[in-house]
Amino acid sequence: MARARTYSSRPVLTVNLTALADNYQYLASLIGGARMAASIKADAYGLGSDVVGRALYGAGCRTFFVAHAGEGKLLRTAIGAKASIYVLSGNTPQDTAIFFGSKLKPVINSLTQARDWVKAIKDVNHPPRTALHFDTGINRLGIPNEEVDVFANDKALIEALDVDLVMSHLACAGDREHPLNAQQLGKFKMISALMPMVPLSLANTGGIYLGAEYHFKLVRPGIGLYGGKVTNTPDTEGVKPVVELHAPVLQIKTVKKGETIGYNASFTALKDMKIAIVSAGYADGLPVNLSGSDKRIVTSARLGKHRVPVVGRVSMDYTILDITNYKGFVELGGKAVFFGEDLEAQSAHSQMINYEVMTHLGARCRKIYVNE
Ligand SMILES: *Cc1c(COP(=O)(O)O)cnc(C)c1O
Repeated sequence: MARARTYSSRPVLTVNLTALADNYQYLASLIGGARMAASIKADAYGLGSDVVGRALYGAGCRTFFVAHAGEGKLLRTAIGAKASIYVLSGNTPQDTAIFFGSKLKPVINSLTQARDWVKAIKDVNHPPRTALHFDTGINRLGIPNEEVDVFANDKALIEALDVDLVMSHLACAGDREHPLNAQQLGKFKMISALMPMVPLSLANTGGIYLGAEYHFKLVRPGIGLYGGKVTNTPDTEGVKPVVELHAPVLQIKTVKKGETIGYNASFTALKDMKIAIVSAGYADGLPVNLSGSDKRIVTSARLGKHRVPVVGRVSMDYTILDITNYKGFVELGGKAVFFGEDLEAQSAHSQMINYEVMTHLGARCRKIYVNE
């Protein structure tokens, strides 16, 4: 059996930094005079926040959003002192020292956080500035309706917080027709009018596609930077794929008609078959729901320019491909490719959202950053 000169069994996640930078510039081209920030929480959606952060910094990004102080600390080390890093979860008692040590800006989501922060910075020289996050209808984290008046009227509190951004978050930005978009926009305008002079931010990736009214001073896309599509008209989104999962071929074998393939014998060979066992499974982020059974072949992997069906159940470390009809040459160590241009389709087949698929990919795979 022929094989690549050298190869590892470990699957590889390729992250195309050129496509990432192109997506940054593409989204920037849609927002007129507004500024770009990058949402880089959860290790940049699984892609590695240090390398991704540096690449976006190189593309011109100077404002970043993470979820937790610990994520902000790692990002600060990666990108240096100059950029703003906001922590979406806000300040929590255990993490205050990290905020000061790494110059992280808390996103204040409640009166409790506001008062805790003001107490914490009492004796601190040049504490980080803050963002206020108002809940305008998503009913997730964010300052609730009943606290808006306190923020609007307590001048001393606002002054002590040293607010440099007022933000909110859209619940249904990917759905242009959803009435909640306009409702949240209206409410955001009303609330932010109580704090004039402070820059405003409302749009995630979907919000950018909703148009100029939603852009304000700063937009904070995540998934679009990483090549994910979010609207119900994906063909209108000009982002490029950033991520591919490369699974090396570890073995090729024949299966006789009537035999079964994989766990639970969920696939039966209706004829003699040739299969390739490739090294990537659900522990690498390949969803079990991509399994092919007697009832349904769900998806295919790419071998070079061709597609070969996934047969049998996706297991923890391995996936099985039907290469019976494949005319090309399959060598040991050759790469079967998942996601990339298929991210949206394969996410849909997995009954998962693309965000969810993407964040699962970074756990075990070796990451290789491609700079074309
Ligand atoms: C995750 C997140 C974003 C980015 O959302 P995308 O849909 O990935 O563009 C922006 N703002 C907030 C508050 C978020 O939690």
